[in-house]
Amino acid sequence: MVSNPSDPRTPAVVSSHLEAQALDNDPSLRQISFVTPRGKPVTLRYKQRARSVGSSARGHLENGRCLPEKGPGFVRFSKAGCGTDETATLVMFALGEMLATYPDIVPVVIGALSMPTGGRIKPHKSHRSGRDIDFGFFREGNVPLSRFEDIPFDRIDYERSFSLMANLIATGRVQSIYVNYALEKHLVKAASDMGYDDEQLSWLFQYPRGRGAKVGLIRHEKGHTRHFHVRFVCPVGDDSCREN
Ligand SMILES: [Zn+2]
Repeated sequence: MVSNPSDPRTPAVVSSHLEAQALDNDPSLRQISFVTPRGKPVTLRYKQRARSVGSSARGHLENGRCLPEKGPGFVRFSKAGCGTDETATLVMFALGEMLATYPDIVPVVIGALSMPTGGRIKPHKSHRSGRDIDFGFFREGNVPLSRFEDIPFDRIDYERSFSLMANLIATGRVQSIYVNYALEKHLVKAASDMGYDDEQLSWLFQYPRGRGAKVGLIRHEKGHTRHFHVRFVCPVGDDSCREN
């Protein structure tokens, strides 16, 4: 697979043999290899300049990499627009996959990540160390949104919303996704319709085991009816980061 730098949908996809050479020459380079939900092997390469210090709920961020207010496949409205290099790379990649899968898709609405140097942002308990990001749900009918909106539950586009989650999860770098339990059964149905089997659904979702069950990567968090929250694991090789 060869990257095309002029194509914003493939921001950092390179072949793995080019990768290994570059890694030897630059200790700040990182690479992550995985297979996308569509079955495509991918290696992402990026430079790690940011540090995620401490935990998501107490830590801070150094040299955060900030997303623009809009870009391919997204619009962003929060003043907290920064994450680790890994967060930014994975998000841009997943959004590129969404554009490749649904060429006409409206931009997803992105809310808070972290401030450039992290720390507390009201009203969030976490979002402090560059590993958290909030995404609005897609609305049925491909209706463009610019903020998180109260979409009636039967008007949320669960397939596209889950597809974005799946593209992020496939990277192997998602720790948890938080969403209101009331929406989980709809997401499960969408995932099932897309071909995910019972074993995968059981690993992916807390539903139907109850909103308090400590199982599933996608879990209940109160609120979270207008957006879902993605938390990434600590970046590769970042010793200052704490996952709990
Ligand atoms: Zn959040």
